[in-house]
Amino acid sequence: MEKLNKSIQCSVEDCIYHCKNHDYCSLDTVHIGTHEHSPETDKCTDCLSFSAKS
Ligand code: SF4
Repeated sequence: MEKLNKSIQCSVEDCIYHCKNHDYCSLDTVHIGTHEHSPETDKCTDCLSFSAKS
């Protein structure tokens, strides 16, 4: 069974690091960033550790 990190909740099921039947990430740490110059809402932030399932 893949490792489940209960400190990182995530619902991005298309990421290879997502734990299939649980809404958690399997990585030890993740890198969060932004694509905006002046982020104002949660929608302005991104998980930069995301990697798409092929
Ligand atoms: S790497 Fe980011 S997007 Fe992927 S499962 Fe972990 S928290 Fe979610």
